[in-house]
Amino acid sequence: MIPLKQSKVLLTLLLLTSFLFANNDRVTATSLTYNNTNQQVKTTTPLSISDEKKQLYEQLEAVTLLPWYWLAAIDQYERSLTKVMPKIRQATGQISAIFIDESRWAGPLNPNQQDEQILSIQWFGGIGKDGDGDGLAKRTSDLDLLYTVSSHITSFGLHEDQLANGLWHYYKNSRSVQRVQQFAAIYRQFGHLDLQERAFPLPTNAVYSYKNTWGLNRSWGGKRTHEGTDLFARNGTPVRSTAYGIVEIKGWNRYGGWRVGIRDLDGFYHYFAHLSGFEKSLNKGDIVKPGQIIGWVGSSGYGNPGTQGKFPPHLHYGIYSDRGSAEWSFDPYPLLRKWEQADKQKRINN
Ligand SMILES: [Zn+2]
Repeated sequence: MIPLKQSKVLLTLLLLTSFLFANNDRVTATSLTYNNTNQQVKTTTPLSISDEKKQLYEQLEAVTLLPWYWLAAIDQYERSLTKVMPKIRQATGQISAIFIDESRWAGPLNPNQQDEQILSIQWFGGIGKDGDGDGLAKRTSDLDLLYTVSSHITSFGLHEDQLANGLWHYYKNSRSVQRVQQFAAIYRQFGHLDLQERAFPLPTNAVYSYKNTWGLNRSWGGKRTHEGTDLFARNGTPVRSTAYGIVEIKGWNRYGGWRVGIRDLDGFYHYFAHLSGFEKSLNKGDIVKPGQIIGWVGSSGYGNPGTQGKFPPHLHYGIYSDRGSAEWSFDPYPLLRKWEQADKQKRINN
């Protein structure tokens, strides 16, 4: 583990250093702090992967003027796509998860699909660019990958609307635009990338019970299969966000009653239904943390707005994975067990 990590750090430093010296005088001072020949280098506290990533984005921000949280958002969106489609997206970078296939990189009619020459790539309409200043556009270089995407996306301008336009032109998919915008808002709010913490949706000292009911036929609402886990609890038990995320949906749904949908940084959609009410300051577009109260357990749903009491109070919790063009429900039960144990352990430790 350690040698791998060290070699990754070293590689980043080398890339950054060569990039900075070649491209931008303003930020060379920053790179010296991490220059391996410098005695003051932070050898006692090696950079974490997320520190490395953040540095990479900040160095690119200095050159492209695209704020680091947009670069982080694009990279994380690409990572989420690779997670669900590992076979057709094999990451070529070291740290960055940006995937650009050969034909898009080199140009569809380029006879050399592994082309790294800037001029011929341009000639054949490829998008590959040189971001690290070595004179080559390499799909294996984090800086080349990030620079290629950011110059594409910022070609319309740096205002939010212009970035949205740039994202649309790059991905040709409005879901992708929304996802990157959401991720950028989350990173911007917290100012860092360590946002992997999760929480059980109910306080673990509340009275509740749940079983694995995913995929079973529903008792209510006809023939749809059950896309979630029902957590039975008393009316008014607090319901908490399970992840760092952004409120994508809040309001009434015929089946779900009062419900909230939260998008996390893996692109997962966390769905909380049948609430008796929402936390009153919560709004669509708000950024939330794991454990933050978003509403209360109830029995709303199966009818017009306000319908309640047609079934015992419970939280219906579902989780959906974004595959780029569609969303798929997967079984939240194993995650709920894991988060429950972790929260109980936290209670003991505090
Ligand atoms: Zn349910």
